[in-house]
Amino acid sequence: MELKKCTSCNRGVQEGATIFKCPKCGKEEIVRCKDCKRVGVKYNCKGCGFEGPN
Ligand SMILES: [Zn+2]
Ligand SMILES: [Zn+2]
Repeated sequence: MELKKCTSCNRGVQEGATIFKCPKCGKEEIVRCKDCKRVGVKYNCKGCGFEGPN
């Protein structure tokens, strides 16, 4: 199984992570570990620069 890395903190994630396509460009995959999700750390899309909490 491929190990995804959290977009915000760059740690490898497993269960509890949220993985979704960037809501703006729909191309880049955003990965948020459960810790970043819980405390609402922002993420940036590498493709289009979109920043958001969700
Ligand atoms: Zn994280
Ligand atoms: Zn994007």
